[in-house]
Amino acid sequence: MFRLRRRALEIQLKTPAQIERMRAAGLVVAAALDVTRAAVAPGMSTAELDTVAERAIRDAGAVPSFKGYFDFPASICTSVNEQVVHTIPGPAVLRDGDVISIDCGAIVDGWHGDAAVTVPVGRLDPRVRRMAEVAEAAMWAGIAAAARGVRSGTGRLSDISYAVQSEVRRLGPRPRYGIVTGYGGHGIGTEMHQDPHLLNHGRPGRGPALVPGLVLAIEPMLTLGRPKTAELADGWTVVTVDGSVAVHVEHTFALLEDGAWVLTARDGGRDRLGGLVSGRAGTDG
Ligand code: MG
Ligand code: MG
Repeated sequence: MFRLRRRALEIQLKTPAQIERMRAAGLVVAAALDVTRAAVAPGMSTAELDTVAERAIRDAGAVPSFKGYFDFPASICTSVNEQVVHTIPGPAVLRDGDVISIDCGAIVDGWHGDAAVTVPVGRLDPRVRRMAEVAEAAMWAGIAAAARGVRSGTGRLSDISYAVQSEVRRLGPRPRYGIVTGYGGHGIGTEMHQDPHLLNHGRPGRGPALVPGLVLAIEPMLTLGRPKTAELADGWTVVTVDGSVAVHVEHTFALLEDGAWVLTARDGGRDRLGGLVSGRAGTDG
């Protein structure tokens, strides 16, 4: 969904009041993902999961941000096994041993939230289960790096990318996981996709400064094989070229003067970030 091109970045910094409004969208996404995750089971179709998610979003008074985005026909992306991201839900049913990544976005009063979870279907290969844990840990390492960077006043965007990659390499096995490079995270606010693009790999100390008011979606994608991906003829589904299994997790987080606030995590990130979470995350209980 993101084209890389040379041009001046347009970064929308948010005020604390605007970040509070984005928290509302983030909580809708968290709740929708919770009920959708709970509905995952062998025999369930991905279209049925989409219905569950859309109902949760609309019942909360929000709007699914994916539906109609460049004519995307559903409220979630449901990427199974070798599918990496952007898969359109459909009649295919989940089978025991599958893994599904569910990506969800919602809009509240014009402000977006965006998050994804990877969920096992029945008895999942322990190697894939471990890869999902590593992706999750790498995402939190990236958010922690951002929180440290905003506190020090010297952080740069690629410090997050470097932290993600480093955590994947630290925790991952040999042979290494593939880190998907063709897709990544992004700024988010009054649109789902804003500047800057956030890579899941690379050297630290580059790119825009990590400043209060920056709100980002961070989304590592890992594969059990090679990182190369291709887009299917439907114009959406991204798959691994070698057919290896992929996982994808995502959170939307805001940077404040005193740390990070994970807007799509119910606890604001307190459990995983500890003292790096912003005090503002305590304002919503
Ligand atoms: Mg997403
Ligand atoms: Mg995203």
